[in-house]
Amino acid sequence: ALTIGIVGLPNVGKSTLFNALTKNSVLAANYPFATIEPNVGVVNLPDPRLDKLAEIFGSERIMPATVSFVDIAGIVRGASEGEGLGNQFLANIREADAIAQVVRGFSDSDVVHVDGAVNPASDMETINTELVLADLQTLEKAEARFEKEVKGKKLEPIVLETAKAAREYLDTGKPLSSSTIDLAPVRELGLLTAKPFIYVFNVDEPILQDAAKLDELAALVAPAKAVFLDAKLESELIDLDEADAAEMLESTGQTESGLDQLARIGFATLGLQTYLTAGPKESRAWTIPQGAKAPQAAGVIHTDFEKGFIKAEVISFDDLVETGSVAEARSKGKARMEGKDYTMQDGDVVEFRFNV
Ligand code: GDP
Repeated sequence: ALTIGIVGLPNVGKSTLFNALTKNSVLAANYPFATIEPNVGVVNLPDPRLDKLAEIFGSERIMPATVSFVDIAGIVRGASEGEGLGNQFLANIREADAIAQVVRGFSDSDVVHVDGAVNPASDMETINTELVLADLQTLEKAEARFEKEVKGKKLEPIVLETAKAAREYLDTGKPLSSSTIDLAPVRELGLLTAKPFIYVFNVDEPILQDAAKLDELAALVAPAKAVFLDAKLESELIDLDEADAAEMLESTGQTESGLDQLARIGFATLGLQTYLTAGPKESRAWTIPQGAKAPQAAGVIHTDFEKGFIKAEVISFDDLVETGSVAEARSKGKARMEGKDYTMQDGDVVEFRFNV
């Protein structure tokens, strides 16, 4: 599964957030035979549509999609030079498919800030600089190797050209994710700043209700997405039952917990979407890449579904709720038969027809 690596300077609240994530983890409950790594948290992707489907179909259980997070400790200034945990850090972060950077916005004089003061912009700059430097090193090493291989006709020149273009871009100090360079030829290098990025601002609770302040922070990172949460509050919410948690959230002016927001935005940042299936046994969300075609979507349920794909009967979630049943949706012409070129849409409720 694709994973989101959580990074951030020391004392920004990473562990607090990660503990809340792992307490919320569904791995232990749903996958009893999975090896549970201490630094991995798997949480449900919140999706209220599943409750509605379960109601319509009388489903016995609900199976949401999941989002995986990996706690990647150890970034400090100088990480790219292999200081301290640097090298291990870089190896771990290279394996993540997207990066969530926790940025400290809370002020608490009892919690020392590594640089002496709370300054989100400067914290982000510190981390981004380390990642840019790490990529520059990777590219410099790779270029020397690519030069030889191109000369020996063992490598397409485009690989070397792309590496050079990427290095020149990084020399401006900006992450590759903001460039228009097609990085596909150098994908194997696992360049860190080419990964999708989200920012998680760990702020004091009053700031969660201060729209102007949140806009200001969001503008700092745009076009990357920002999530705002209070890690301490999240770790308290986790211990409450649903009703108490909802009440506590409301008292802070929020409609969705920070962990749910992080799961939702993280999932989208990974380039993923879901489609839905429903029946008496279960109502379920299935994970597919954004833009997947119907046969590929069928293959997520079972490879035979993809091989023997004939058609997908698709009803949009809204149409299904409006008509109240599959039979009613069919008779009102709301059930579409889609073929192998159909691109799956968010909220599709699907039944596949296939040959076995
Ligand atoms: P890490 O080094 O980034 O993993 O940070 P920790 O999660 O260990 O947090 C460092 C300290 O900050 C701990 O004492 C936390 O209790 C405290 N802390 C974390 N999040 C918050 C927060 O949202 N508000 C306040 N006031 N303190 C926090």
